[in-house]
Amino acid sequence: MFVRIDGKALAARLREEIGRQVSRLRQHDLVTPGLAVILVGEDPASQVYVRNKATQAREAGMSSFEYRLADSVPQTKLLDLIERLNRDPEVHGILVQLPLPPQVEESGVIQAIDPGKDIDGFHPINVGQVAIGGPGLVPCTPLGCLMLLKHQLVDLSGQHAVVLGRSNIVGKPMASLLLREDCTVTVAHSRTRQLEDLCRQADILVAAVGRPQLIKGDWIKPGATVIDVGINRVEAEGRTRLVGDVDFATASDVAAAITPVPGGVGPMTIACLLLNTLQATCHQYDIPFPD
Ligand code: NDP
Repeated sequence: MFVRIDGKALAARLREEIGRQVSRLRQHDLVTPGLAVILVGEDPASQVYVRNKATQAREAGMSSFEYRLADSVPQTKLLDLIERLNRDPEVHGILVQLPLPPQVEESGVIQAIDPGKDIDGFHPINVGQVAIGGPGLVPCTPLGCLMLLKHQLVDLSGQHAVVLGRSNIVGKPMASLLLREDCTVTVAHSRTRQLEDLCRQADILVAAVGRPQLIKGDWIKPGATVIDVGINRVEAEGRTRLVGDVDFATASDVAAAITPVPGGVGPMTIACLLLNTLQATCHQYDIPFPD
């Protein structure tokens, strides 16, 4: 029987659990986890993401600090703010919403964040920890994808996982996490040959290419589990709607389970951001992090 993997419901349950853990920390007067979000510029999609992150942090009982900087902000000013937040004892997690304007060098900004507060998991120290299977902060989107896969399949060991996309924020860390779960992992990208044949070999297919409905039903192995990370805005009948990288209609005739867009990976990404904030807080206060 085909399963539409309900990321929205799973994310809601995860947020409830995080909320319980946050109130436990507050009740014992230990600490209130604090999330600082920095938004540079006026990109409408980024504004929505930042608002959702801040709202959900507050709903989970965390403190939320928002910093909005002009599109023209010089890099030094942004680095000064990050340095201040690194030292602020009320801030346990720092997120700089990407993309950044051209005068700001993204890698310099990411490396300025204290790795212990880097709840996006983009700092090279956290990237390295994920690659060697260490204890660092894991990027939120692949972490959410992994939770969805484990929810659906429980044991991933021995499965052939094909990850479409090799970005630093989704594809590469996703591949590392699947390797950790004892999958056999293939990473594909824009130069990969016979992409369709490769996809048809996947027991687990993670699509993170940013190409609307690229993956059709006949690219998918019967009974596969498909995680659709893509968020693509397309115009149809005079209005904008969101679609994934997978053509849900044809894919659902073949796959055993797929995450929908919207309502799949997106909600899990934000829930995992809160989870990382909780983890970073516990780590900074030497409090055991609940399983
Ligand atoms: P990037 O643009 O950074 O990376 C896209 C990757 O896909 C690249 O590795 C690229 O290959 C590969 N690619 C592009 N076109 C093709 C193609 N036709 N065939 C095979 N491979 C291809 O994107 P991101 O990783 O940042 O994001 C991917 C998608 O996921 C986007 O739609 C984004 O909006 C969405 N997203 C969703 C999130 C969520 O919370 N749900 C969070 C983050 C992203 P190459 O390296 O060769 O260029």
